[in-house]
Amino acid sequence: MMKPVIVVHGGAGVIRKEKESGYLSGVKRAALRGYDILKQGGNAVTAVEEAVVVFENDPHFNAGYGSVLNEDGEVEMDAIIMDGRDLTSGAVSAVKCIANPIKLARLVMEKTDHILLTCKGASLFAKAQGIPEVPGEQLITEFSRERWKKNLKSASNPVACQFGLGTVGAVAVDTQGNVASATSTGGIINKMAGRVGDTACIGCGGYADNNIGAISTTGHGESIMKVTLARLILHYMEKGMSTEEAADAGLNYMKTRVDGYGGVIFVNNSGEWTAKFSTEQMSWAAVKDGQLQCGISTGENKTEPVDTSL
Ligand code: ASP
Repeated sequence: MMKPVIVVHGGAGVIRKEKESGYLSGVKRAALRGYDILKQGGNAVTAVEEAVVVFENDPHFNAGYGSVLNEDGEVEMDAIIMDGRDLTSGAVSAVKCIANPIKLARLVMEKTDHILLTCKGASLFAKAQGIPEVPGEQLITEFSRERWKKNLKSASNPVACQFGLGTVGAVAVDTQGNVASATSTGGIINKMAGRVGDTACIGCGGYADNNIGAISTTGHGESIMKVTLARLILHYMEKGMSTEEAADAGLNYMKTRVDGYGGVIFVNNSGEWTAKFSTEQMSWAAVKDGQLQCGISTGENKTEPVDTSL
């Protein structure tokens, strides 16, 4: 039996000082929620989905409730989930008026022959699956509304966008040695209506393959898509790099090749994990071997004991 591992992120970018403790407690709660599931023998897919649901319900993060607004002042969200056992995945893009896009992504994976549903078709599918519609306003926080007003012109600037990040993700290995990944986002602030970023795209916002490992990414979506960051990092690992080297190499390639910044969490199929970023900060947490580790800034790694008895 494998020792389970979960790693989560709450987005790469710059986190305001007064929000740091909220981010840290959010990543810890999400990691512990996923870990509880793994500890009870639950599978990696359910663990990453439930960890992401914790983030989507937390207004600190740019996913579900708390998502950034597009240029029309509306929330449009992208999410993806992937099962490393057979490379099945499900994603939704530009969805409105649902609380937990990651749950819809899982239903796309399990109940359809498709990988990605978007806009109206995704809404109709959500309805057919009994997912309640919530008024769009209910996903908007005062903070996102204020930021939207202030940042009306910054959508096309990747550096300005660093202040608008907060996408969430989770990767896990379960006791059976299966890996999974999940990522969910409101995208980048003041994006054009209908803009779909990396998160919904397989190999960009996430990827999971039992033969290698699982990845979830965050950062400037257009840059991540140009280099297919998640799959690129797995490719580096296949070529013999460690998780840490592969993550660094992928982020470095994105920086030098397209001047793009972001972050990743990565666990391989033996349970080695890493959390890396080329932005100023990224909130992350991981649970393995009786320890919860978490941090926000480069080199920061707070460690706390947790009950990991199986
Ligand atoms: N990657 C996301 C996007 O571009 C943003 C983020 O990671 O914060 O949609």
